[in-house]
Amino acid sequence: MTNDSKMNISFDNTENAFAYKTDKELKQSKFLFNTMDYPLFVPIGTRLTPFLMKTGLPVHGIIRNTIFKQFVGGETLPETSEVVSLLKQFGVQVILDYGVEGKEGEENFEHAADVFIDVINYAATQSNIPFISVKVTGLARFSLLQTLNEAPRLRSGIHDHELEIDEWDRVRKRMHRICEVAAEKNIGVLIDSEESWIQDPVDRLCMEMMETFNKEKAIVYNTIQLYRHDRLHFLHLSHRIAKEKQFVLGMKLVRGAYMEKERSRASQRGYPSPIQVDKENTDKDFDASVEYCIKNINEISSIIASHNDASNMLGVQLLEKNNLPFNHPNIHFSQLYGMSDNITFNLAKIGCNVSKYLPFGPIRDVIPYLMRRAQENSSMSGQTGRELSLIRKELKRRKSA
Ligand SMILES: Cc1cc2nc3c(=O)[nH]c(=O)nc-3n(C[C@H](O)[C@H](O)[C@H](O)COP(=O)(O)OP(=O)(O)OC[C@H]3O[C@@H](n4cnc5c(N)ncnc54)[C@H](O)[C@@H]3O)c2cc1C
Repeated sequence: MTNDSKMNISFDNTENAFAYKTDKELKQSKFLFNTMDYPLFVPIGTRLTPFLMKTGLPVHGIIRNTIFKQFVGGETLPETSEVVSLLKQFGVQVILDYGVEGKEGEENFEHAADVFIDVINYAATQSNIPFISVKVTGLARFSLLQTLNEAPRLRSGIHDHELEIDEWDRVRKRMHRICEVAAEKNIGVLIDSEESWIQDPVDRLCMEMMETFNKEKAIVYNTIQLYRHDRLHFLHLSHRIAKEKQFVLGMKLVRGAYMEKERSRASQRGYPSPIQVDKENTDKDFDASVEYCIKNINEISSIIASHNDASNMLGVQLLEKNNLPFNHPNIHFSQLYGMSDNITFNLAKIGCNVSKYLPFGPIRDVIPYLMRRAQENSSMSGQTGRELSLIRKELKRRKSA
């Protein structure tokens, strides 16, 4: 494809952004973002909701028709497939996320691995689901990851607690099982990044899987959080290892979702914070990573996972400058379902590979994900303001059209 349409991209085009929503749905979104904008709504809601879910009160229906509908595909795969088909009509792809979090125990971990495999098999039947996402904490005990992160390691990279080595082997086997089916079905596996105090074993697992499955193309992707001041260097190192071991590096680029938690843990325990000193530095490293990945596009397959207009625009401009097609298989853009439609649908319009990160699962299981979305969209961050002004603009445009 040529990039003829490149000059026409604007993230302010709300007609493209919301073409997939009826007036009624748009008004429902406006109501939801308006509600989340009340200063007390998010702090009270995030504390009260998990408690109310356990009581017999009829909160299930309320959540389902409001915040769940905005940010989640459905409770089951068949329900989610309606959203998948709708997005397909607008050239938007999907990263399918089985949104279960915080369930521990070997039985639950085995079950989660089976579900991830079911999700891959389902994705392979759809033309617009190139990826699924996986959280290692869905397959491994959090405290095991923490121990592995902290324990002194032998030169092999493995530490010397025998029982834990067995447990870790089972985690590696689960991940191997998932990636093997993914490779067979040609579906990418995006491994999420989590807290810095468990990230080291996650990175090692990603490297191991990439070395095994990324020989021809990227099947497995690690994630780097550029709010960490060491991650640009980590990207360079990962690339060097990939070249030495001759595999394609898969990398999802994010700014990072756990900033407050990271900072407060570091200050409570008295170690230097892993987080950049300010937003400007995070932005600088994020954009430098975008540049680095596009410069090495034949060796690195990357996903710009961001709601930041400037970073997404930078990706488009660099493709254009380097005469690369917008649908180059090694560059992909992604935003969360329910947010930043102005970026997703306008990128799709010019032919970029762009997807919505679409979680699905029973309401009680996706509550932690919904709470994070509510917090992210509270008035503090300014995201709600952005969403609301775009929705208002579109409603006004439709009225006068
Ligand atoms: C498809 C997709 C997948 C994702 N996967 C993951 C994942 O695996 N792991 C994960 O942690 N997150 C993930 N996220 C969330 C992501 O890390 C960000 O929290 C979110 O996208 C907001 O960043 P932004 O680039 O969209 O936009 P922006 O609004 O430009 O940036 C906000 C972000 O900047 C950083 N920031 C804000 N203030 C400061 C400051 N004072 N100093 C330093 N940094 C600051 C924080 O990371 C904050 O979240 C994902 C997001 C998307 C869209």
